[in-house]
Amino acid sequence: QKPVHVIGGGLAGSEATWQLVTAGVPVILHEMRPVRGTDAHLTDGLAELVCSNSFRSDDAENNAVGLLHREMRDMGSLIMESADINRVPAGGALAVDRDGFSAYVQEKIEAHPLVTLERAEVTDLPPADWEQVIIATGPLTSGALAEKIHAATGADALAFFDAIAPIVYKDSINFDIAWFQSRYDKGDGSDYINCPMTEAQYRDFIQALNEGGKTEFKEWEKNTPYFDGCLPIEVMAERGPETLRFGPMKPVGLTNPNSDEKPYAVVQLRQDNKLGTLYNMVGFQTKLTYGEQKRIFSTIPGLEKAEFARLGGLHRNTFINSPEVLDEQLRLKNHPHIRFAGQITGVEGYVESTAIGLIAGRLAAADIAGSVFALPPVTTAMGAILSHITGGADAKSFQPMNVNFGLFPPPEGRVKKKERKQAYTARAAEDFSGWLNKALI
Ligand code: FAD
Repeated sequence: QKPVHVIGGGLAGSEATWQLVTAGVPVILHEMRPVRGTDAHLTDGLAELVCSNSFRSDDAENNAVGLLHREMRDMGSLIMESADINRVPAGGALAVDRDGFSAYVQEKIEAHPLVTLERAEVTDLPPADWEQVIIATGPLTSGALAEKIHAATGADALAFFDAIAPIVYKDSINFDIAWFQSRYDKGDGSDYINCPMTEAQYRDFIQALNEGGKTEFKEWEKNTPYFDGCLPIEVMAERGPETLRFGPMKPVGLTNPNSDEKPYAVVQLRQDNKLGTLYNMVGFQTKLTYGEQKRIFSTIPGLEKAEFARLGGLHRNTFINSPEVLDEQLRLKNHPHIRFAGQITGVEGYVESTAIGLIAGRLAAADIAGSVFALPPVTTAMGAILSHITGGADAKSFQPMNVNFGLFPPPEGRVKKKERKQAYTARAAEDFSGWLNKALI
C-alpha cells in the first residue's frame, strides 16, 4: 500500500499520522526540525507546544473548547491522550507538562510500525506520485514551501500574518442605538450594523486609541510588513485625528433611524458567519492589549455590553483562505491529492489545529479504503470549527478563529441566556454520538 505523506510533525501532523496508522494506512511523516528550525520552536520533538502549556477549558458542559476536547477523546485522539497523561493542575483548564506531552506523542509515533519519520524540509509542492498528502506545516511554515503554496493558491489566498479585527456576538449589541444598514443601501441594504458617534465621543475615542496600551511585536515579528489595506486602527489614529473619520469610520451614506442627530463618525460591523450570529468590527484590526480593547471598544455607543467571540490581534501566521481554496473534504480544489490540516487552514489554537488534523487523517484514510467519512454535524464542536474553514465563513473577510458557540447554529426555541451554553453542549453531545456511531470507517 502506498503511504500517505504528512508534512509537518506538529500538533495537527502528529494527530493526522496517528489516525492514519490506527486505520492501518502507512505514513511518511516529514518534519524539518532539527535540520531546519522555526522562530518559535525550541526542540526537535514532535507536537512541541510553542507557547502556553494550556489546552484551555476542559469543561465540556459550558465551554466550546472543552466540548471539543471531549469529542476528540471520543475519536481516539493521540494528542488528547498525551494531554490527559501529562496533565498538570490548572483549575478547570487542561494544562500539560510540555516536555512529557511532546515526548509521549513522539514515542507513540516512532514506535508504530507503519510510520516512517523523515527529518527534512519539504521545499516544494508534493509531486503527483505522492498520491495522498496532508500539509500541516503550521503558522510558521518554512519560506520555501510557503512560496510554493502561495503560487498554487493565488496571491490573495495565502496570508503571512493575521490582522484580526474583534468579533462580537450579535445578541450582545444594543439595537436601541445601533442599526442595520449598508452605506448607500448597497447589497440588500442591511448588511452592516452601525454604531454612531458624536464629535465629542469620536475625539475621546481617538485619544483613548492613542493612549491605550499596546502589545509589542516579538523580535522576529518586527520584519512583518503591514499591508496598507489592513493597518492597525491605532496606527491609523496616530496618523491624524481625522484619518479614521475619512477611513473605516466615515459617516457617509447612512441614516440613523434611532436619532435625528447626524453621526460624526460611525463604527461598522460586518456579518462574519453564515449563521449571522457573529459580526466583525470593520477596519478594527489592532495591537491594543485585550484588556484595553474591551475597555476602549465598550465606549462605542451600542457596544457598551458587547461580548467578544475573539479580540483583535496582529501576529505572524501563515494560513490559506480555506473557504476559497479547499473543498469540504479539506482538499486543495486545484490539486485534490493535497489536503491541508492544522493552523494553516485558518483555525486558531492547539486544540482546534489538532481537531482539523484528526479529521484530515480520517478523510485520507477513508479515501484510501474507498469509503466515505461522513462529516460531523455543524451542531458539534468538530463540525462547527470545520465549517468555519470549509464554508461557514465569508472568504472575503476570512480570519483564523478559535472554536466558540457563535460558530454553532443557535439552539431552537427560546432558551434563557444562562442556559444557552448547556443547550449548545447538550445538543452537541446527542448529535455527536449519533454521528460517531455511523461515521466511522
Ligand atoms: P505546528 O504545531 O507549528 O506544527 C507545524 C510543524 O511543521 C512544525 O513542527 C514545523 O517544524 C514543521 N514544518 C514547517 N514547515 C515545514 C516544511 N517545509 N517541511 C517540513 N516540516 C515543516 N496556540 C495556542 O493554543 N496557545 C498558545 O499559547 C499559542 N501560542 C503561539 C505562539 C506562537 C509564537 C505561534 C506562532 C503560535 C501560537 N499558537 C498558540 C498557535 C499554535 O502554533 C498552533 O495553534 C499550533 O501549534 C498549530 O499546530 P499545527 O500542527 O498546525 O502547527
